[in-house]
Amino acid sequence: MGKKAKGMRFAFRICPQCGSKELGKIAKHTYFCWGCFAEIVVKSQGNWPSFETYNILEDGTLEMAAES
Ligand SMILES: [Zn+2]
Repeated sequence: MGKKAKGMRFAFRICPQCGSKELGKIAKHTYFCWGCFAEIVVKSQGNWPSFETYNILEDGTLEMAAES
């Protein structure tokens, strides 16, 4: 338990959608999950970043799956 020490940088290591740890960074704030093939866009807001998850459809378009 316990809170993370302040100053610790946020890093995406686990997919918020499927929990896979196989994330690849494809852009500065964009990650790709090899577990569920989702694209995760991190949006910094104050101290705690939020994210948006997109599913990549078969035709290549992105569909928003979750937002927090
Ligand atoms: Zn995933």
